[in-house]
Amino acid sequence: MDRRTFLRSSALSAGGMILPRAAWPALSTNAPGRERIVVVGAGLAGLAAAYELDRAGHAVTVLEARSRPGGRVRTWRDPFADGLYAEMGAEYVDASDEYDHRYCREFGLKVLTAKLYDGIFVRGRPIPMAALKSGEASLPFEGIRSSELFGQEMQYTRELVEKIRNPERLPPEILKLDNLSVVELLLENGAPEDIIALYKYTNATESTARPEQMSALGMVKAHAATSAFNEAVDEGRIFGGNDQLPKAFARALADKVLYNRPVQRINWNDAGAEVFFTENGRVQSVQASRLVLALPFSVLRNLQVAPAFSAEKMHVIRTLSYGHVMKVAMQFRERFWDRPGSVGQRVFTDTRLRRLYHMSIDQPGPRGILMSFTAAEDAEFLGALNAEDRQRAALAETVKVWPEAANYWEGAAIKYWNEDPWVRGSYSFLGRGQKDFRQLARIPEGVVHFAGEHTTYASMNGAIESGVRVAQEILSG
Ligand SMILES: Cc1cc2nc3c(=O)[nH]c(=O)nc-3n(C[C@H](O)[C@H](O)[C@H](O)COP(=O)(O)OP(=O)(O)OC[C@H]3O[C@@H](n4cnc5c(N)ncnc54)[C@H](O)[C@@H]3O)c2cc1C
Repeated sequence: MDRRTFLRSSALSAGGMILPRAAWPALSTNAPGRERIVVVGAGLAGLAAAYELDRAGHAVTVLEARSRPGGRVRTWRDPFADGLYAEMGAEYVDASDEYDHRYCREFGLKVLTAKLYDGIFVRGRPIPMAALKSGEASLPFEGIRSSELFGQEMQYTRELVEKIRNPERLPPEILKLDNLSVVELLLENGAPEDIIALYKYTNATESTARPEQMSALGMVKAHAATSAFNEAVDEGRIFGGNDQLPKAFARALADKVLYNRPVQRINWNDAGAEVFFTENGRVQSVQASRLVLALPFSVLRNLQVAPAFSAEKMHVIRTLSYGHVMKVAMQFRERFWDRPGSVGQRVFTDTRLRRLYHMSIDQPGPRGILMSFTAAEDAEFLGALNAEDRQRAALAETVKVWPEAANYWEGAAIKYWNEDPWVRGSYSFLGRGQKDFRQLARIPEGVVHFAGEHTTYASMNGAIESGVRVAQEILSG
């Protein structure tokens, strides 16, 4: 399962809050009068909520700490030559991401199908994906049983998966797996170390976590879901850059989005909320009849909230797990990875750069951008280096896969999300003992509502869906 399918299946089987997807019902309103609504955060979650509430006729103000919309959707253009651009945050839109596709259609944006993985580079060995699929080559890992790359660990959870009759009503013996990590469960069920080693680069990389931190229940539920990910999942990217989606929302909201307004403190009671933020170095406040918090819990946990929310909510806000992620967009004079003899254009690796792929595949050359999406301990390792050493390490790792890379190197633009003050992490994942955290995260506290990927599943689609859900919550009165 990929990051999105994996986390979505956990959310679906665990909660059932998701709006019907088959039809797109107009949001209906039972709210008695015009509400004065403040939304904190102009990521996709906050923007979607504000957009729908504004359309329903409420007075909406969005407070955003940065000088731009989109949060973790971030397309960089300036660092690159020849008009090239790179997705430094969210990148892939799955064919099944209905909320992404719905709003892309609404704003006239086109999603182009992305390249599938066509190469593997593990344990120093290049393996064309076609050779793995045909059985001509196999992965140099012990205990491998099929010609697949993802999901090798499933053979060690099969008996548990068979015990799940209804994902909405998990038996106690399955629920208690929440107290185990993925590593503990796999070892307990006889998996060789190599299966865990591979899981680290397949699903754990997607979750940006370490397998020893991830809940075993999450893995087993993902295996039980019918939408299991494989290397052939249909993914796309917004042509011209993913940032066009948040920018389109923000344009529609116009001056209702206030930038450079970091929120520091929130006071609330049954009648409303007062939100304190900085504007040009001075603390200001705004009153609201309803408040939507659409900022990551990794940031909210450092804000002052008075009175504190319920004990359960505060526990989730303070302890929900976040991973580590870095993207490295490397500009090269020529696209050597496209040449005959290259291991591929989208390569699964176990180097420190993990996933390596042709970012600029839909953009004119001859220059090109090779992107790395790296996570967990590798992102942490690279993140601990200074700027120059990060560049050196990026090139050294790329040379392992394509020895000619050094001849064409022009430099890299690097974004380590854990050092971004408005995220302080990658995105949420369910750690041990956190099986109910997403449902708890989304329960309103009086006039305060909660949106964001951490209330659904970690993706752009999840973020938008959560914003629409909050809008519906408010409109339902
Ligand atoms: C490297 C990376 C790769 C990813 N890849 C994919 C992918 O391929 N496909 C996919 O679908 N998803 C992907 N994701 C996940 C996706 O980006 C997120 O799930 C989604 O964008 C989260 O949206 P959000 O609105 O919940 O949060 P955010 O986008 O983080 O928005 C929150 C907003 O709140 C603001 N804020 C924070 N603190 C304050 C404050 N105190 N006051 C005011 N404002 C504040 C922030 O500046 C931000 O704008 C990726 C994420 C990362 C980091």
